[in-house]
Amino acid sequence: SLSIGIVGLPNVGKSTLFNALTKNDALAANYPFATIDPNVGVVGVPDPRLPVLAKIFGSQKIIPATMEFVDIAGLVRGASEGQGLGNKFLANIRETSAICQVIRVFDDPDVTHVDGEVSPSRDIETINTELILADLQTIERALPRLDKEARTKKDKDKLAVVEAVTAAQKLLNEGVTLFAGAEKAGIDVSLLRELHLLTAKPFLYVFNLDESELTDEDLRARLRDMVAPAEAIFLDAKIEAELIELPDDEALELLQSMGQEESGLSQLVRIGFATLGLQTYLTAGPKEARAWTIRKGATAPEAAGVIHTDFQRGFIKAEVVSFDDLVEAGSMAAARSAGKVRMEGKEYVMQDGDVVEFRFNV
Ligand code: GDP
Repeated sequence: SLSIGIVGLPNVGKSTLFNALTKNDALAANYPFATIDPNVGVVGVPDPRLPVLAKIFGSQKIIPATMEFVDIAGLVRGASEGQGLGNKFLANIRETSAICQVIRVFDDPDVTHVDGEVSPSRDIETINTELILADLQTIERALPRLDKEARTKKDKDKLAVVEAVTAAQKLLNEGVTLFAGAEKAGIDVSLLRELHLLTAKPFLYVFNLDESELTDEDLRARLRDMVAPAEAIFLDAKIEAELIELPDDEALELLQSMGQEESGLSQLVRIGFATLGLQTYLTAGPKEARAWTIRKGATAPEAAGVIHTDFQRGFIKAEVVSFDDLVEAGSMAAARSAGKVRMEGKEYVMQDGDVVEFRFNV
């Protein structure tokens, strides 16, 4: 399944953040692997539409979409050469679908920085260098084999792969990640897929700030520029850890007193979900109001298959209403008489927030 790996240098607040992400979530109990592997956390994706839906349908339960975060230890200078937990680190990060870098901005004389002083730009560079070196090693190992295969078989598709891998190597040698530079360099990253390159994964950044820096717009703009086009999330991990201990209304009050509207954790999960190229559709009834995870661009039968493979196999049609139309109408019956409920067939491409009932043969 799709997961986001959390990486960063030591003492930047990774564990604090990961614990806060996973601790307040009762969902984890339903996912056995999450309790077996303490480095994997299953997190519910915040969705304000669900309580609204539950009210309309009188649903007893709310079940949000979920996503996985993996706490990946061992990123230090030299990790690509096997320093620290080097090889284990690389194996773990390879399995994730996106990389979330935690960057320390907060200053605290009691928390030492591995490189002596706090510098977000240097830390970003250190991490990217390790990921780039790891990718260059992967390429150096694979290229002779790919090249030989392509030449002996005179295989056009394989020659295209060799060409893309060679272009990627050049870019990486210039110190540029594939995430940041592949498109501009005209490299089709889908041709690199079999190599599982680390810097080709989508990146997002969490800047761990001091409380007093949370509202510093100049600072935020500077940090955002450092990592664009990646998404940047600004939070104070220590405060996030406090927020999860509070009842919702008190947590919101504390956030607002710091000039924030949404917790950093909530932003991270929401933005992380989108970074993975995912979206949700909704189902509701008296039992539960629920969000289901699909890839952007998924068709109605594919979406049905997320609930049950039989639903996909026996798909007939989907009864669909957009969340906004449903809320405006006030009930399913009212939405129907207003002509807002559509019958969609096999070709229909799902839209985020579609409220759906599937018709199928078993
Ligand atoms: P990791 O090594 O990256 O996992 O870092 P930890 O989460 O273990 O944090 C290292 C130390 O920094 C701990 O003592 C944390 O309490 C502290 N820390 C984490 N986040 C913050 C923060 O936002 N502000 C301050 N002042 N300290 C923090």
